[in-house]
Amino acid sequence: MKPYLALITSFLSFIAWNQEVEHACSEAKIHAKQIGIKTLTALQEVKANAYDVHFYSLDLNMTNQSTLLSGTAEIHGTIVQNLDTILLELFPTQVISQLRLNGVTSTYSRVNSLLKIGINQSVGSSFVISVDYSGTPPTSVQNPFGGSGVSNATVSTIGNKVTWTVSCPFLAHEWFPCKQILRDKADSSAVRITVPNGLIATSNGTLEQTEDLGNGFTRFTWKNHHPILYYLICATVAPYTEYVNYANPINLPGDSIKVQNFIYGNATGLSQAQAQCDLLPGFIELYSDKFGLYPFSDEKYGISLAPLSGGMEHQTMTTVGVMEKKITTHELCHQWWGDHVGIASFSDVWLSEGFATYGEYIMLENFYPAETAALVNAWHSSVLTAAGGSIWHTDTLNIARIYNSRLTYKKGGAIIHTLRHLINNDSLFYASLRSFLSTYGDNVAVGLDLKAHLEASTGIDLTPFFEQWYFGEGYPTISARWNSIGNDVLVEINHTTSMPTSVPYFSIPLELRFTRNGLSDTIVRVNITDNSDQFFLSGMGSVSALSTIDPNNWIINKNGTIVQDPTFTAAVETNIDEDSWTIYPNPSSDEITITWKNGECTLRIMDSRGQLVQTIDQATENQMKISGLKSGVYIIEISTANGARSQRRILSL
Ligand SMILES: [Zn+2]
Repeated sequence: MKPYLALITSFLSFIAWNQEVEHACSEAKIHAKQIGIKTLTALQEVKANAYDVHFYSLDLNMTNQSTLLSGTAEIHGTIVQNLDTILLELFPTQVISQLRLNGVTSTYSRVNSLLKIGINQSVGSSFVISVDYSGTPPTSVQNPFGGSGVSNATVSTIGNKVTWTVSCPFLAHEWFPCKQILRDKADSSAVRITVPNGLIATSNGTLEQTEDLGNGFTRFTWKNHHPILYYLICATVAPYTEYVNYANPINLPGDSIKVQNFIYGNATGLSQAQAQCDLLPGFIELYSDKFGLYPFSDEKYGISLAPLSGGMEHQTMTTVGVMEKKITTHELCHQWWGDHVGIASFSDVWLSEGFATYGEYIMLENFYPAETAALVNAWHSSVLTAAGGSIWHTDTLNIARIYNSRLTYKKGGAIIHTLRHLINNDSLFYASLRSFLSTYGDNVAVGLDLKAHLEASTGIDLTPFFEQWYFGEGYPTISARWNSIGNDVLVEINHTTSMPTSVPYFSIPLELRFTRNGLSDTIVRVNITDNSDQFFLSGMGSVSALSTIDPNNWIINKNGTIVQDPTFTAAVETNIDEDSWTIYPNPSSDEITITWKNGECTLRIMDSRGQLVQTIDQATENQMKISGLKSGVYIIEISTANGARSQRRILSL
């Protein structure tokens, strides 16, 4: 989702979070609040999980003149554990005129936003709760922890008003009775909205019916047949113009996908919005290729304009304030990441926002490749403004933390780029993501679900990656010391970290760009596994400079120094006949065999700085295990009793 600034009533609050929410998607979600309060306590949440929501049906009367609404909400569910009370949430400004349980008028009680309905049904039985209610959803004054579940504002360019909903993360109960627990997706939903003639009401799924009621009102019936999170149900009312186009992903088995947009019909807005809408089919086709077929292809995708500064990824009907390609593609990407696969916890909102942010990169990479570098640079620049901060967090009631622009969005997007670099195989990267989305589609997941899934599909141990980049804080500052020896290059990569108490070192593949005499530049990939690593790069040609560390910006990092050190040679002293001993294989990851002709010898292994690592006195064996050695360049010295000695460099893989 992308947040809005239009209705912020508290300038002071704005100051407090402005620095962290400049990302358009986070703005719409955070509003002016630092802390969000869930209606349900932990104990009540356990109780609410004793039933399973199947279906929300909203039948509402709305206008574009205010946030006032009235109507009936139905909640269909099943009892999954013994319980005597159904717990729902509904903000107190919504006045209940009647509540029915299975069609029979029922008593209920309300404490603030908590709605309790007594029930006496056995486990496995189904129930329907119908709530007739009306009221004006709260303002931020009435609900200091929300107040923007429903908004109404004037669009100056059309001289008319729009009413829209944004229920994320805990604001759905401001406009309909619901259960705000992520792990309980409803199986489907329906939103029927009656509005004065001349207005259009939009929502999730398919527009099943438009009825002129003959009394000056029109009723729009939308039905969504897919599992849906409570906060992705939406309603928008405005004097829209409908603008339809179609997407045709190559993996779509049937007809094309309808892209049903609702834009402002004035002359100035129409052409700009249409031009942006015309990009959407290509974006849908791109993501269908990368992530698997658009998950709601049997219904539609669409955009409804509303005066919010960003957008909100309502399932199949994004609400967007700014028709700009990175925003529209971000919200579209959420249909796979955040909607089809929902988040099981706001601690792992990265699965939604990180991937939607990375979706912006994928779109640019495919359609506007000249713009990708600037996007990644902007992410990195933002992350590097502070030393710490992890993507994963436990502050699930702090809305500003959940939707923190720097961490959830920019670091979140940047590390997916790093993950792609780590996997180093785009086909495998996307196939793994498709497999994950297919496995967890229609359900919810956390970051560790993705980790386990990617590990199984790629065979790569991703524990270091997740510990260092997702759960951990900070970034590396990377320096290099290098020297060219003939056609070979010795490189020492040293890095410090900005939060050594959290991540003392990063282990990650790193690219190095070398410029060469008479040859084009070359990029070499090395694996850093510690604060200091050494590499022996053979057959490089005549290298004139190690010009850039991480030239393709795969990794969030700061530049240290790059120094050519002529003394970095691991100089070889020789007074044993070079032909008298051999080492093979070299390089090796396991064992090397050393042969010599000089009788009993002493073998010493030193690192490239000359620090002794291991000594084997009076060696009579001619084989050495080096599997315990860290990757890098080492010196093996052979010396005889009479003091003759010789050294060779080896490379431990
Ligand atoms: Zn988003």
